Amino acid sequence: MRPSAYDALIIGGGPGGSTAATFLARAGRRVLVLEKERFPRFHIGESLLPYNRVIFEELGVLATLQAQGLITKTGAQFHLGNGSKSLYLVFRNGRYTREPEAFQVERSTFDHVLLKHAAVSGAEVREGWTVSRFTADDTGVTIEARSDTGEQQTFRGAFLIDASGRGNLTGNQERIREIHPKLKKLAVFGHFADVRLDEGEKAGDTVIIRLENKWFWIIPLSAEKTSVGCVMDQEEYAQAGETPTEIFTRLWQSSQTLRERMRNARLLGAMHTTSDFSYRNRTYVGKRLLRVGDAAGFMDPIFSAGVYLACYSARMAARIVDESLRNGTDGNVALLRYDRRIQRAMRTYWEMVEGFYTTPFMEVFMSPRHKLSIPAAVTAVLGGELEGGWKIRWRMRLFFWLVKLQRHFPLLPRISFCPTMNRRTAEIGEPAMPLVGDDVRSL
Ligand SMILES: Cc1cc2nc3c(=O)[nH]c(=O)nc-3n(C[C@H](O)[C@H](O)[C@H](O)COP(=O)(O)OP(=O)(O)OC[C@H]3O[C@@H](n4cnc5c(N)ncnc54)[C@H](O)[C@@H]3O)c2cc1C
Repeated sequence: MRPSAYDALIIGGGPGGSTAATFLARAGRRVLVLEKERFPRFHIGESLLPYNRVIFEELGVLATLQAQGLITKTGAQFHLGNGSKSLYLVFRNGRYTREPEAFQVERSTFDHVLLKHAAVSGAEVREGWTVSRFTADDTGVTIEARSDTGEQQTFRGAFLIDASGRGNLTGNQERIREIHPKLKKLAVFGHFADVRLDEGEKAGDTVIIRLENKWFWIIPLSAEKTSVGCVMDQEEYAQAGETPTEIFTRLWQSSQTLRERMRNARLLGAMHTTSDFSYRNRTYVGKRLLRVGDAAGFMDPIFSAGVYLACYSARMAARIVDESLRNGTDGNVALLRYDRRIQRAMRTYWEMVEGFYTTPFMEVFMSPRHKLSIPAAVTAVLGGELEGGWKIRWRMRLFFWLVKLQRHFPLLPRISFCPTMNRRTAEIGEPAMPLVGDDVRSL
């Protein structure tokens, strides 16, 4: 290998790329990050999970993030759009959850903080550089890139970490990207002022409102700004033939729960749309190559796990690259370990996402029964606990087994997405069920 080669080349300076770069640079490795945009830039993905804080602490960036005065998220709320049922999930109360709170972030600033931190930690960061191709051989990897000023250059490194997000550079080049056949979704979203939030600690919660075949998120970003978005079928959007603002407004107006929160909302800036975000690559590794975060795969933002999975996979990728360099190997065996572990981590959330779009899953999820601490295991996973061991895994299997049973036998009260149903109707139908309220916060 040529002497000027890097230990690791990283494509993309989002949370995945910055995390891998910082860990490697702090381990004394020579790292180059190529990011096609110039930061700060807009990005969607604003609600983080509690376990992300552990990684921020290990990166040495937690104090810097805390100094930004970010909104603290201590829980997540799930409501049916007709107001008939709600669930408050509080991370602090999950018996298996070690992390009680997370941040809500504006990604333009947040991603910039992480990328600057990677540079301060010793990584070479070049913004405005787009990677177009890679080739790998027995001794390393070569990438071709072009700067936004027209300069063309090739770079050589011992390992390549693809953190190109949905750009999915290496997966696209190898044609191994698979789109989820059932989750052909589209998101319409924007930033708003004057959205009604809850009082006190719950003011920082992520609020999810589930309508039939679609859902809304409400994520408070600051005292003046709240992110609100809707995820729906691409087909429904295309058939409606409306502008993003028209369809978005019509949908929130159809829901009692959303009307209560959006009545006085004012759009700040433009509405955005994005689609085709549920996919994965068949493998997350290749010769001297590791894919992290969205460059490995992503499936629907419902449980806000994207940034966490990007940081989680990037931390492990950095460890494997460092270990392989130390041992002087091509990392082959360790790369397979990475593939297995990250596939398993991502599957955990994907199974929840696939369930979320089915009614039996919603019926079990929205009616937590505390027997056997199944809700506590679900809370831990939704907080980002991926290494909690068997005590969580068997409870999650039992949870999905209950969902299967619910499909055929109504163990738990049926739910309805009918827009005219109100909470009172549901209470009459379900006298033994605690509906909304602080008693359910102990999930
Ligand atoms: C509608 C929607 C809502 C979401 N909401 C949430 C949420 O609330 N919480 C959450 O955690 N996640 C959410 N996500 C997911 C989240 O956005 C991603 O999972 C997260 O950003 C992944 O981080 P990453 O570093 O892998 O990729 P990214 O953050 O996308 O970073 C990739 C970077 O690579 C750069 N790049 C791409 N191609 C190239 C190239 N060829 N050369 C050089 N650079 C390149 C890009 O410019 C970008 O900066 C949401 C996603 C969608 C679609």
